Amino acid sequence: MIKLVKPYITDQDNGAINAYLKNLITGEDIDAITEFEKNFSNYIGVKYCRALNSGSSSLHIALLSLKVGNCDEVICSTHTCLAILNAIKYVGANPILVDIKYDVANMNFNINENMIADKINRKTKAIIIPHMFGVPADIEEIRKFNIPIIEDGTLSLGAKFSNSRLIGSIGDISIFSLHKSKVISADVGGVILTDNEEYKNEIDKLLDYASSQNYTLNYNYTMGDLNAVLANKQLKRIREFIRMREENANRISEILSVNKNLKLPKISKNHIYFRYLVELPDYIAAEEVVKKGYEYEVEFGRGVYPALHNYIGLDKNIFVNSEKAQKRIVSIPVYPGLKENEIKFMCNTLLNIVTRGEKK
Ligand SMILES: *Cc1c(COP(=O)(O)O)cnc(C)c1O
Repeated sequence: MIKLVKPYITDQDNGAINAYLKNLITGEDIDAITEFEKNFSNYIGVKYCRALNSGSSSLHIALLSLKVGNCDEVICSTHTCLAILNAIKYVGANPILVDIKYDVANMNFNINENMIADKINRKTKAIIIPHMFGVPADIEEIRKFNIPIIEDGTLSLGAKFSNSRLIGSIGDISIFSLHKSKVISADVGGVILTDNEEYKNEIDKLLDYASSQNYTLNYNYTMGDLNAVLANKQLKRIREFIRMREENANRISEILSVNKNLKLPKISKNHIYFRYLVELPDYIAAEEVVKKGYEYEVEFGRGVYPALHNYIGLDKNIFVNSEKAQKRIVSIPVYPGLKENEIKFMCNTLLNIVTRGEKK
C-alpha cells in the first residue's frame, strides 16, 4: 500500500534516539527539550517557544493564554482539522466557522478573509488561522480586524508569507503539531510560540508546576525528551524535506499533465507541498477515486473530509467552497522518501481511474 502520509525517518534519527537512550543508561542528563525550543524559535524567528505533547494541547494552551472562555466566540475556517474544533470546545467557547477560497492553481483553500468582518462582534476573542496544505493564508488582511490571531502552521511549516517571513512569525501566538503525519515528526508533539511577553507569562503559568505558592490550574502538556531528540534531528533537515516534496510534486505534475481534464496546482516558491491537491473533472467524485485507489493499494485523500461545519450540523449551503473541495479535490501522496516507481504507479492509477470514469 502506498500510504497518503508517512514520516521521513532515517538512520540519522535512529542514531540520535539510540544515543539519547544510552545516555539515560549511563545516567547522563541531556536537556533535549530546551535545545529544541531554542532551535525552533530561531528557525521561525519568534522569541518564546515551548515544546508540548501535541498540536491539540498547543491550541488549548493558546486559547487559555488569550483568556478565551465560556460563551466567547472564536472565528476559524471550516475547512481544517478537527483538533481546532476540539480546542475551541475545551475552553467552552463557540466556534464561528467561515468558508474558504477555492483556488486550485495556487492550492489555496484557506479562510476567505472577506467573509470575516460580518462575524465579528463583542464576543469575538480570537481568530485561528490554519495555513492549509502548505500555502499561507492572507494574514495581513486578517490582522486589520484587530482580534488576536492564533496561527496554526502545522501543515505549512517552512512556508513563507509574501514578505518572506516564515509562517508562524506574524500571529499573536502560533502553534504547530509535530505528529508523525506532519511536516517534521516528533512522533507526537507540538509547539507554541509568541513574541508577546504577557502571553508568554500566561503560557508559562499554565504549563509549569510549582512556579507559584498559590494554586493555579496547571496542564501537564510538555513534550517528552525522547520526542524532542527526534524533533531536533528532523528540524535540522527541514530544507531538505521541503526540497524533496517539491521534486516529487514536479514529477507528479509531469506525469498527470497528460490528462487535460485534471486541474493541477502550480504553486510558488514560498509554498511547501505538504499536500498535492488535484481538481477532478466533474464526472467523477473524490469519494469514488479514494475508494477505487484502495483497490490498487494507493491511498488517496480528500484534503479535508469532513469539514468542521459537517461535524456540528451547520447548513452545507453556507459553505459552498468547502463543499466543492470535499467533492472535487483529491490529495496525492507527495512526502519525502517516495520512490520513482511509487510516484509512477500512483499517478498512473489516478489517470486510469479518471479515464475510465470518462467513458462511463
Ligand atoms: C494535526 C493537526 C492538529 C492537531 O495536532 P495533534 O498533534 O494531532 O494534536 C492541529 N491543527 C492542524 C492544522 C492539524 O493538521
